[in-house]
Amino acid sequence: MGRSSKDKRDIYYRLAKEEGWRARSAFKLLQLDEEFNLFKGVSRAVDLCAAPGSWSQVLSRKLRGKDKSEEVKIVAVDLQAMAPLPGVTQIQGDITKISTAQEIIRHFEGQSADLVVCDGAPDVTGLHDVDEYIQAQLLLAALNITTHVLKPGGNFVAKIFRGKDVTLLYSQLKIFFSSVTCAKPRSSRNSSIEAFVVCQNYSPPEGYVPNMSNPLLDHSYDVDFNQLEGPNRIIVPFLACGDLSAFDSDRTYPLQLDSSKEYQYLPPTQPPIRPPYQQACQLRKNNLLAKEDSPSDLPSVSFHSLAQ
Ligand code: SAM
Repeated sequence: MGRSSKDKRDIYYRLAKEEGWRARSAFKLLQLDEEFNLFKGVSRAVDLCAAPGSWSQVLSRKLRGKDKSEEVKIVAVDLQAMAPLPGVTQIQGDITKISTAQEIIRHFEGQSADLVVCDGAPDVTGLHDVDEYIQAQLLLAALNITTHVLKPGGNFVAKIFRGKDVTLLYSQLKIFFSSVTCAKPRSSRNSSIEAFVVCQNYSPPEGYVPNMSNPLLDHSYDVDFNQLEGPNRIIVPFLACGDLSAFDSDRTYPLQLDSSKEYQYLPPTQPPIRPPYQQACQLRKNNLLAKEDSPSDLPSVSFHSLAQ
């Protein structure tokens, strides 16, 4: 695929580069905010699973404003290292660990967060049931951390895969938030089962003590949640959000969107700092990467032998 064909195929990937976002996902958070006004009155925010950092960029630009308010505290957590961002404190850590929750609290000097967002995703395997299960585990880990750091009345936004057991997750979230909505921003492809739960007004059950246990692993949940009826059945509203005139993430657009402006290829805003393909790039730079079509032209150094 040529450098410009991805620009043509994926309009939000291209807009992200034009506007200086590290990833196209920035538009998902921006469109969720358009619908739910998530950033109003927020001065302490947590971005879970933040790398490469486009949601943290959105938080930094929106919360700190033009005067770069020093009052605002943003903490970003990810397993992977992330290039620095103005006004964002980074923790390289695992959101399934209590130590990560404690470190976030330390950064807020004992105060609670107003907003927690989580765009976490595991490396997908392509086996849908497995991917949905792991995504649900990650969401529950994010919820657990949230119960340690979010103030009562605060909001939580997280990526969810709308698989067949999603009702169980909705029910679990409803225990902690008075309002739970499932939202699909325009920039999230229709072809993807990804959506976002927007959980508003954190109000844990009386006497609830935050912990990191995972109710999905507790086998007392031996209920088919889709069969529940009456008040036991929770129907979470589904909302398509983002301006209807916004670009459609499933459509292919021409390279020249505006007839008065010529298309120009832009490199990504922040290339990965430690990509898994780094070694291959190094080999290519030194012309040591084996080429299938003309093996006799190259020195006999294979990827495997250099890795040792
Ligand atoms: N919101 C980010 C942005 O806008 O740039 C993109 C997030 S990316 C889709 C998902 C991230 O989840 C990856 O960077 C991955 O390292 C992170 N992740 C997955 N499991 C995690 C865990 N247990 N703890 C922390 N981060 C995790």
